[in-house]
Amino acid sequence: MANLDKILYKALHNIPITTEEIRYLLKLTKDSARERLFATARVLRRRYFGDKVFLYGFVYFSTYCRNDCTFCYYRKSNQDCIRYRKTTREIVDIANALAESGVHLIDLTMGEDPQYLSRSNEGYEQLVKIVKLVKQKTNLPIMISPGVVPKDVLKKLKQAGANWYACYQETHNRRLYDRLRLNQSYDERWAAKIFAKTIGMLVEEGLLVGVGDCIEDAVQSFGEMRKLGAEQVRTMSFVPQKGTPLYATGAVNDYYEINTIAVMRLVFPDKLIPASLDVEGIQGLKERLDAGANVVTSIIPPEAGLAGVSQSTLDICEGYRTVPGVTPVLEECGLTPATLAEYRDWLANKLGNGAKEGVMCE
Ligand code: SF4
Repeated sequence: MANLDKILYKALHNIPITTEEIRYLLKLTKDSARERLFATARVLRRRYFGDKVFLYGFVYFSTYCRNDCTFCYYRKSNQDCIRYRKTTREIVDIANALAESGVHLIDLTMGEDPQYLSRSNEGYEQLVKIVKLVKQKTNLPIMISPGVVPKDVLKKLKQAGANWYACYQETHNRRLYDRLRLNQSYDERWAAKIFAKTIGMLVEEGLLVGVGDCIEDAVQSFGEMRKLGAEQVRTMSFVPQKGTPLYATGAVNDYYEINTIAVMRLVFPDKLIPASLDVEGIQGLKERLDAGANVVTSIIPPEAGLAGVSQSTLDICEGYRTVPGVTPVLEECGLTPATLAEYRDWLANKLGNGAKEGVMCE
């Protein structure tokens, strides 16, 4: 406990915590120790964000993909998964319904759909048009997650209204990366995010846990996320997907993801840290918020025929992954949805002033 006391004290007093201390925190298993870690994460969240939580609407508009990631349900060789490609009209209507429901941002995500990414300019122009139309219709901040796209396309997507670029590495251990993202360049993916930052976009970086990674990999990821200057950092537990090479690895205990969320809050106290509904649905939301998360992601409207990424159907038709569905959980945690003006202010501050540094590890 003396060690834990010392580390938590340092985090609360903006004293950098060391990589050895990060390892120690990630490994915590005792309930009492973990609860103290989570309580500290909540204090830090409150310091930077009060009791406000941001809500992101998720439009996974195409589940086609040219890639074959071993962890992903939508890998091109999986014959078992649901494939769909929403029309532009449908995408705009779904985004509009999400906006009217009270989300603060529209996250436009797709697999690396060849229809958009491998048809030369025609596909890219269509993608840009979607962003433009969603912006016009909703006037909300937009995050795009289209996979790796050329620099000029990224520029056009930004000009069309995209504020954020999300393109997760999932791991920063190159050997593990090669086993997860088959035949995809680590450096090209990374460079796309660096470029997005140079043109004034905010970047989200993510890691996936439970895919053969170890504590050392998480420590390395924190370092890379800090170097990148990601304004949103997420961790998610791997959910085994039918029809994929990693299906047999079995369900992962989520305690490690929850520890990781809390440690991220200590290392990156002023960053956005998501509690994804895409791992355990609504029933997993409270523990992620209690660990210091301050964004609810993967809000999906029911009856729009949309899927999640890790949990393709969980809680969607039931309407739990909606603003009214998550609000009672926020209240239970002593939290409340931010206003749109508050999210816009946060965004303007980041886009105007560049990234602020949080507590750094050594
Ligand atoms: S993780 Fe993304 S890029 Fe990889 S197969 Fe799935 S949808 Fe495609």
